[in-house]
Amino acid sequence: MSLLDQIAHLLNENTEKWFDTYAGRKFPIAYRQNETGPVVCPYCGREHHHGTADGHRSSHCPTSSHGRRLNLEGEIVTPADGYLVLTRLKGTRKLGK
Ligand SMILES: [Zn+2]
Repeated sequence: MSLLDQIAHLLNENTEKWFDTYAGRKFPIAYRQNETGPVVCPYCGREHHHGTADGHRSSHCPTSSHGRRLNLEGEIVTPADGYLVLTRLKGTRKLGK
C-alpha cells in the first residue's frame, strides 16, 4: 500500500459517519469489525453482542446507563431507542462449521 493509499485509508476511517437515518428517524451507528464480533456501544461505551445480521437493534446497556442521551444533530436519542449495527468487514469470519 502506498503512502497516499495509507493516508486515504486513515482519512476514510476517521470520517466514518456515527449516525444514520432508519425508518425516518436518526440512530447512532454501533460498528463491529465482523459479523461475530462485539459492537462498541455509542451510548455506554461497552461492548455488546448481537446476531450476525446488521440493522436496527435494541441496545444492551446496563440500567445505570439508561439516563444517557445523544444529540444526533438536533434529534435526541437514548439507549431505549437502540442503534444501527453495522459490520465493517463483511464475510471476513466464516459462519458455522
Ligand atoms: Zn450500551
